[in-house]
Amino acid sequence: MNEVFALGGKKIWVAGHKGMAGSAIVRRLQRENCTILTATRQELDLLGQRQVEDWVSRNKPDAVFLAAATVGGILANATRPAEFLYENLVIETNIIHAAYKAGVRKLLFLGSSCIYPKLAPQPMTESALLTGPLEPTNEWYAIAKIAGIKLCQAYRKQYGCDFISAMPTNLFGPGDRYDLTQGHVVAALIMKIAAAKKENRDTVELWGSGEPKREFLFVDDLADALVFLMKHYSDLEHINVGTGKEMTIRELATRIAKVAGWHGKFTYDVSKPDGTPRKVMDVSRLSAMGWAAQTPFDDAMDRTWRAYLESLDHPK
Ligand code: GDP
Repeated sequence: MNEVFALGGKKIWVAGHKGMAGSAIVRRLQRENCTILTATRQELDLLGQRQVEDWVSRNKPDAVFLAAATVGGILANATRPAEFLYENLVIETNIIHAAYKAGVRKLLFLGSSCIYPKLAPQPMTESALLTGPLEPTNEWYAIAKIAGIKLCQAYRKQYGCDFISAMPTNLFGPGDRYDLTQGHVVAALIMKIAAAKKENRDTVELWGSGEPKREFLFVDDLADALVFLMKHYSDLEHINVGTGKEMTIRELATRIAKVAGWHGKFTYDVSKPDGTPRKVMDVSRLSAMGWAAQTPFDDAMDRTWRAYLESLDHPK
């Protein structure tokens, strides 16, 4: 596919560079001949409109990866709806509008597979957007992310901005949020299995029934897809990013246990929510452009597991 935007020699701002996705984008961009711009929370509060506009007009990035967001797992979403809706709306409107005002040439907005209706036909195609009610446990986050897609489309239509959107499936990898109440399932299971191993326990409790199906994408594969889209894609419609493969939560737990070398059993706390029953992306649009995820699941999990153990030895 033709390159529509070259990264060589450009200044690229990764908004959200401390997060799991943002830090993987930085790792990936280090292989491109570009200057990477980042701003810490102390330097730049993304919730402050004036601050964001001033920072962007001063630093003049040529392109922006918008990976900054307030994120969390199923329980965090369900218990902090105001933060998830307000903060995500404000971060994305501030950055997108500032990018437009400063003449940023390209912007990639990062969304999430939870934008699709709870009962969308599986695998979910891009056209399933806004065809039915959302999954209630994460509708606040989803509404904000849908607004982000629409902002990119609106700025493209009205002002001709080359702003695109990518919707990744469930992510995992180094730099994930290791917090049992706020985090996502992979990080939570890594923590639980590591603790069981250390304490010689032979059971680990999972939330829900273990039956829901999810797709898991290694975050370094995501970063590779985003750089690919930045270079090759310029259009209105958002693009799904995933592997197109799914597994049950029970199978996920078993595969993490195998990588970890833990031989215990799983129990199920059915008082906790299952969330949406099945969530797998149709990635045929991205595949047709010539991109596919390269890292086998067990290799990616092994790297993630080792990064977690290292982070325990060297806390930040
Ligand atoms: P979701 O994909 O938006 O539902 O977010 P999560 O990654 O938080 O949860 C995915 C699935 O894993 C849900 O069905 C959870 O109930 C299930 N799950 C099982 N054990 C855990 C756990 O310890 N933490 C989390 N966050 N989810 C778990």
